Amino acid sequence: MSFAQEKIDPKLTEVWAPKVKKVIPGYNNSPPSDAIVLFDGSGFDGWTGKGDTVGWVLNEDGSMTVKPKTGAIKTKQTFGSVQLHLEWKSPLDTIGKKSQKRGNSGVFLQDRYEVQVLDNNNNETYSNGQVGSVYKQSIPLAMASVPTGEWNTYDIIFHQPEFDENGKVVKKATITVLHNGVLIQDHFVIQGPTVYRGEPSYKAHGKASIRLQDHGDLVSYRNIWIREI
Ligand code: MG
Repeated sequence: MSFAQEKIDPKLTEVWAPKVKKVIPGYNNSPPSDAIVLFDGSGFDGWTGKGDTVGWVLNEDGSMTVKPKTGAIKTKQTFGSVQLHLEWKSPLDTIGKKSQKRGNSGVFLQDRYEVQVLDNNNNETYSNGQVGSVYKQSIPLAMASVPTGEWNTYDIIFHQPEFDENGKVVKKATITVLHNGVLIQDHFVIQGPTVYRGEPSYKAHGKASIRLQDHGDLVSYRNIWIREI
């Protein structure tokens, strides 16, 4: 601190308003007090799927499991920028299943932008399609999966894209992902909706659902909550 700085009243740089809202954090894996609970094991009330029904299996342990060929499920409520928490588990049956065909699912922000769910334990695939990738766009910073059959966590911070009145993107979406507490995507700038072939490109859209992918594998999910930001 310089002599001149010592003369400045420190109170001049104290900010007392606005007052910060209180949030009671979750204990024993429960959601924080202001979260919207999307799935707590009690049912599929907040979800819809192919033909306006959810074909996935509700398990007695409070989780749900993909039922292959019944299609993706998505939240009835739509969201913009969010903090999303969810837990997922890869199926133990890995015999004969390689690369993208082992424990594949995915979490789509705004029904468009996929964070890959995949079992990459002793299972290589292309780096920008492995677990924790922003599929075909961003290689994760680490492979932080727990052993196959155990529960993983994803904590995702997503900022929605912004468009001008002509539908042109003026601010691209960004995403940060923690996988089991490990930073694997660090404010990555998403280049457009996830596509399997070719390059992504933005099209204007508003709020949209969180979608979970049915890729034909028996991936399970539990404890899904979200906070709008
Ligand atoms: Mg996938």
